[in-house]
Amino acid sequence: MTVAFSRPEVPGDRGDQQAITDASLDGAITASGVSMASVPDLAAGRGPDWLEQSLTRSVSDVVAWRRHIHANPELSNREYGTTELVESVLRSLGLRPTVLSGGTGVVCDIGSGDTCVALRADMDALPITEATGLPFASSVDGVAHACGHDAHTAILMATAMALTAAPELPVKVRLIFQPAEEVMHGGALDVISEGWLDGVDRIFALHCAPHLPVGTIGSRTGAVTSAADLVTLRLSSPGGHTARPHLTADLVHALGTVVTGLPGVLSRRVDPRSGTVLTWGSVHAGDAPNTVPEHGSLLGTLRTADREVWRELEPLVASAVEALVAPTGVELDFDYRRGVPPVVCDEDSTAQLRAGAAAALGSDALVDIEQSSGGEDFGWYLEHVPGAFARLGVWPGHGPVRDIHQGTFELDERALLVGVRTLVHTVLAS
Ligand SMILES: [Zn+2]
Ligand SMILES: [Zn+2]
Repeated sequence: MTVAFSRPEVPGDRGDQQAITDASLDGAITASGVSMASVPDLAAGRGPDWLEQSLTRSVSDVVAWRRHIHANPELSNREYGTTELVESVLRSLGLRPTVLSGGTGVVCDIGSGDTCVALRADMDALPITEATGLPFASSVDGVAHACGHDAHTAILMATAMALTAAPELPVKVRLIFQPAEEVMHGGALDVISEGWLDGVDRIFALHCAPHLPVGTIGSRTGAVTSAADLVTLRLSSPGGHTARPHLTADLVHALGTVVTGLPGVLSRRVDPRSGTVLTWGSVHAGDAPNTVPEHGSLLGTLRTADREVWRELEPLVASAVEALVAPTGVELDFDYRRGVPPVVCDEDSTAQLRAGAAAALGSDALVDIEQSSGGEDFGWYLEHVPGAFARLGVWPGHGPVRDIHQGTFELDERALLVGVRTLVHTVLAS
């Protein structure tokens, strides 16, 4: 097929597009300096036939899309060029995509039916300087696709291409190209508030996993990521001489009480099986050894793997902090910022995704994963509908593991077609 690319310096300018055809893709260099070499298909021949034919046609496209998005990364809620690319490709497939009201992010339905399965890819890059030296490395200073969202987007685009080639689908499929996963108030909340989860029965997503070999899919029933909330305390006191703490309010003593006391309270009031942990990352107060300071602050993150616990943490922490500080006479300003809920995969959805991955790649490709203490805004979707979130192996099998959220993050592009095959077969397993 013919794919339209915007030039990187004017990613939103439709009038300045460059057309690239199949014939010109292999090994070609585009105007943006992006190499279009195709990659081996690790699961070639596993079928069905229409999928094989579609992937044969789209193998260059998926690599080209990924490299183009990679070279032109866009920060959260500014994914305009990526949105335009996705939208134009979906339209070229005869689909009717809708751009979210914020101008970034795309939702698009394929097929019809009473049951609807949603597939989600995130689109945003990170404020990180790329240090890979790749020929298609970021062309934007200080912005890089260091979390693999370029791959997620390209995989879902190629999945759309494959699903539109299917003679029939067992369910309606909703593609969600979501903006702004990497920031608080993530794009998942906007997708939900604009009604795009209405009518969805299950939702699935893949995320690049730098620790898993390419060709593998990691999954787990239950929590795969954690909730991560931010706790901030600002304390104030009249201050005074350390010789006379009884005439003022001893702010450092109050801080110390909270530093050790709050984790202790949580360890006795929250089910220890929930994996709840409060860790302070910043404590500041005072300068002189003989002065009671007037101001102090305490910042930390509170993580939990349990969705029910997460819902109850804020009032518990607020009351415990107040009770701990009250006897000291120190004034307290407490701020609790809820992050994302844990991604909790239900048993049926996880089984469906595993069945899809096994059909796509063979059962040897399935690996069990541990829960990560990181956060992921996919958890918001699972507050509303059941679903599963799996890890897509991107480690080439040799050399160092290059972690996400680092300027050196790299992925093995053979994972792209592995991802497409897995998503397509997950739909077919409905
Ligand atoms: Zn990330
Ligand atoms: Zn990510």
